[in-house]
Amino acid sequence: MEDVILIRYGELNTKGKNRKLFIDCLKDNIKKKLDIYPDLEITAYRDRTYIFFKDYDENKILSDIKDVFGIQSFSLAKKVSDDYQVIEDTVMESIDFNKYKTFKVLTRRGDKSYPMISDEINRSIATRVLNGTDLKVDVHNYGLGINIDIRSGFAYIFSEKINGAGGFPVGISGKGLLMLSGGIDSPVAGYLAMKRGVKIECIHFASPPYTSKKALHKVLELVGKYLRYDNEFIVYNIPFTKLQLEINNSCDNTYSMTISRRMMYRIADRLCEKQCIEVIVNGESIAQVASQTLQSMVAINNVTNRPIIRPCVCLDKIEIIDMAKKIDTYETSILPYEDCCTIFLPPHPIIAPKLENVLKNENKFDYESLLDECLNNIERIVINSNNINEVLDIEEENLF
Ligand code: ATP
Ligand code: MG
Repeated sequence: MEDVILIRYGELNTKGKNRKLFIDCLKDNIKKKLDIYPDLEITAYRDRTYIFFKDYDENKILSDIKDVFGIQSFSLAKKVSDDYQVIEDTVMESIDFNKYKTFKVLTRRGDKSYPMISDEINRSIATRVLNGTDLKVDVHNYGLGINIDIRSGFAYIFSEKINGAGGFPVGISGKGLLMLSGGIDSPVAGYLAMKRGVKIECIHFASPPYTSKKALHKVLELVGKYLRYDNEFIVYNIPFTKLQLEINNSCDNTYSMTISRRMMYRIADRLCEKQCIEVIVNGESIAQVASQTLQSMVAINNVTNRPIIRPCVCLDKIEIIDMAKKIDTYETSILPYEDCCTIFLPPHPIIAPKLENVLKNENKFDYESLLDECLNNIERIVINSNNINEVLDIEEENLF
């Protein structure tokens, strides 16, 4: 008998020919997540993946894989020979019946040549459970589901299903450049994109000394929270001060916010091109602030044809906050260190900018050379679980 974690796929089931790619990607992600256990055995099949965890602490492993996207649910199972008596004895020995009042036996025969049909196995096991415990059968509203999965030569027995993180394995959908401000919305947007299989790299616009080192530290701390979902992240820190000051000096100040957002999009777009990242991801939400009215979105989006994925676009702030709490980014996001958008926000930003006025304002200064300067002076920070503490310590030291 072997102990095993049995992993079920979610939406992967609908992916036809790409299925193998999806399963391989999920297996790789599980492996990366569990790389601290060197000789763990992970076997991926068309319908399930199995982790043979040997002498390792199964609860620790279960808690590690609960954040791996692409897993619909998982169970702790016993792998035994397909001998009927062994199956029946294992059911009786391995399940804690005291927790339940009712049960149902659910047998699946992957091996149709097995000498007993599923119904016979169900009845036979149920009789033994009825005789040996106080439980009653309830086929509709059962407390305990006794699952028996018969394959060629062996069987898996499990009872509880634990919900997984759902979604698609990170990386399967390509890459997204997340505009990460340090506020509440963008960390949630990145989480939602990762859940759909997008591998995230982050871009942050900093305007020191107007924005503090603490604002960058906060962004890195937020990225640290993402390490539950992926093993490594790149953060591109963009020195935005000069461009931001030039916008403030040259442009009509009702338009400065629209124009600085267009500059952010241009920089993000060019970085995507350079790093082979397909889409930009951000935390915009319809009508949340002046830059996120539909009219502003038209004027700002106009600088790129690249899809901008806005996972929070139709969520209320309160829904975004709930999600931020769930993924443990909220407490960091509300730390009071402001980013450049807040610091340079004009008193009356335009909420329905006209494109011709935007262009008139942009023609007042040579933004191309300033964009180049931003792109040529990017600070690239790599964050993974090995260096996160060190990175945060260094940044912290820099603060004082
Ligand atoms: P958040 O939306 O993250 O809570 P916020 O509400 O302060 O922060 P907004 O002004 O609503 O930010 O900006 C909309 C989106 O633009 C953000 O969700 C984020 O994706 C992006 N963004 C804003 N400021 C920055 C920045 N300094 N660096 C990177 N991205 C930014
Ligand atoms: Mg916002």
